[in-house]
Amino acid sequence: MIRLLANAKINLYLEIIGNRPDGFHELVMVMQSVALADRITLKPLNVPAIRLICDHPQVPSDYTNLAYRAAGLLQKRFPNRTNRVGGVEITIDKKIPVGAGLAGGSANAAAALFGLNVLWQLGLTRIELQELGAELGSDVPFCLAGGAAIATGRGENIDSLPKAPPLCAVLAKYTSLSVSTPWAYKTYRQQFERTYLSLKNTASLEERQARIHSGEMVRAMATHSTATIGSHLHNDLEKVVLPAHPKVAQLKEIMTTVSAHTGGIGTMMSGSGPTVFTLCETVEQASQILHAVRSQVNDRDLQLHIAPFASQGIQIVDSGG
Ligand code: ATP
Repeated sequence: MIRLLANAKINLYLEIIGNRPDGFHELVMVMQSVALADRITLKPLNVPAIRLICDHPQVPSDYTNLAYRAAGLLQKRFPNRTNRVGGVEITIDKKIPVGAGLAGGSANAAAALFGLNVLWQLGLTRIELQELGAELGSDVPFCLAGGAAIATGRGENIDSLPKAPPLCAVLAKYTSLSVSTPWAYKTYRQQFERTYLSLKNTASLEERQARIHSGEMVRAMATHSTATIGSHLHNDLEKVVLPAHPKVAQLKEIMTTVSAHTGGIGTMMSGSGPTVFTLCETVEQASQILHAVRSQVNDRDLQLHIAPFASQGIQIVDSGG
């Protein structure tokens, strides 16, 4: 039996560059793992079946669950091995909000790949696991890498960054509100396609250099310039998600004001939302921000979490019998 922690991620920077021939968007993202984790248990079964247990009402327990699909992918790719060793029962104790822009499903898939590689003794390298993960979802390779990274392509090309400064995020999400990632990208294309760079046209290289500013965020992360990290937080998807969800736009405004009064570093929406986060330097400050937001938003539907930056995506916590 193996128990793992699967951390959520936040996007410190998300820029949509243009259209890819495969129908996805070309992206530049700076991603960071945070210590808000689902608990995944992998229990060997004698028969080569996959069983999934998760009691969260918004999370499927069938073959559509990303962790189930991760196990299925390994069984399909390595039938000789997996027929011999048997199957797996996957239990997911969900702590990461669902449909939140925090890559909860991708983190579960990454934990299943990582843990089953150990349980079934497949001997796959991190890169091989990331290649398999990219077949399941664009965020899975990052969830396997963890820490801080720059992600390009459709988000599956990961280059790890030096360890980020020890910041802390206050995450805020309305429990009953979820945003579909495909909807966010489709709506962005409908509204902003005219601003896309033509990726086929090499003449656009200068234009590209003038437009993409992820380098400043990467430098700020590497040099631990926390003020610059705060001032370079960026997410193109805010342009479509915030107008569609005024409650989230208002939440962001409140958190921005609270952040300014409590010495926070900056506030931004993560991924396709609707989670909004404020960064700060200490857990004490995070707690102050959390209480200030709670006192200004009188809505029990709002869930708040304190999540320090984490240097790992997946962590084995117990591999006992
Ligand atoms: P991302 O940030 O990668 O776009 P997200 O955080 O917005 O993802 P998820 O929490 O991963 O969204 O969930 C998106 C949908 O995926 C949910 O509506 C759910 O039905 C489905 N899903 C499948 N497997 C899982 C899983 N293991 N955990 C959570 N959701 C899952």
